[in-house]
Amino acid sequence: MHFAGELIIMRFFLYRQMQHYTSRSTIMLKSETTRPGTLYIVATPIGNLEDITLRALRTLKEVDLIAAEDTRHSQKLLNHFGIHTRLISYYREKETERAHELVLRLQAGESVALISDAGTPGISDPGAILVRLAREAAITVVPIPGPSALTTALSSAGLAEGTFLFLGFLPSQKGQRQKLLLSLADSEHPLVLYESPNRMAALFADALDVLGERQAFWARELTKSYEELQGGPLSELLALAGSRRNKGESVVIICPGAKNQAEGDNLEELLLWYRDHSGLSLKDACRKLASDLGLSRSQIYQQALAIWRDDQ
Ligand code: SAM
Repeated sequence: MHFAGELIIMRFFLYRQMQHYTSRSTIMLKSETTRPGTLYIVATPIGNLEDITLRALRTLKEVDLIAAEDTRHSQKLLNHFGIHTRLISYYREKETERAHELVLRLQAGESVALISDAGTPGISDPGAILVRLAREAAITVVPIPGPSALTTALSSAGLAEGTFLFLGFLPSQKGQRQKLLLSLADSEHPLVLYESPNRMAALFADALDVLGERQAFWARELTKSYEELQGGPLSELLALAGSRRNKGESVVIICPGAKNQAEGDNLEELLLWYRDHSGLSLKDACRKLASDLGLSRSQIYQQALAIWRDDQ
């Protein structure tokens, strides 16, 4: 009797233990199966809606959430393609805060697509903070490639160099813009810039002033009805930009200047070399030499004038 009672108690104990482990393993199993969601970085058209990829459309349909720079703008894109996924905003001013919120959602298992107003997120657009935080949290980041104004412009420029330096938007302040351009004056790589319509003339004027005459390429309203691709010297593009309202968005490519191979042991010999071999004007040669030698332009100008006069 006593023995039977012990058996019953033992059985009850074992039953409780099993219950305990079963419910524990269920809980463990649940947390183990809550896999983090995936973050998709999705490129969207820069004008022509036909440029969206099939993969981008499928991803935007399938994810739990789309984080967009401007939800009203992106809603039009989604409506056009009959996509009903929920949108939330992810914009520059709130980028860090939103990125943390999105990483929590991803960790809880939601899948998120990030899009910008146009082109590829993270290219002169918000995106980098979210991508960095997601990667730090070991969340899978999947890029869905597609349009970008950068690659679209480059593909139609026919550059000989095969390399380029992408600067995005230059500083809006003239002084800072000129300083940056000057620091890149000797670059052997074409410079690729983004610019907004109302600053086109100022950009060409500064580039001409600081870099001197160079070949350049202006791609405006890419993929849209009024697409315009113009190649020519900076002075011509400046004249064009100054002669009209430059509607629409633009990418500008500035080609490298004459190679810095000036030969000469003194200022006179260098000036002679520039006059005879560089193809630069007197003014541009003075600017280049002044910057290379750390002199003021006025220190060089009188001597340069005499040398250029000798040539006439
Ligand atoms: N993330 C975008 C990308 O991948 O191209 C760029 C965004 S950035 C905020 C916008 C700038 O890109 C514009 O000011 C312009 O310089 C360039 N851009 C965008 N769409 C363009 C278009 N259709 N034609 C020419 N440039 C464009």
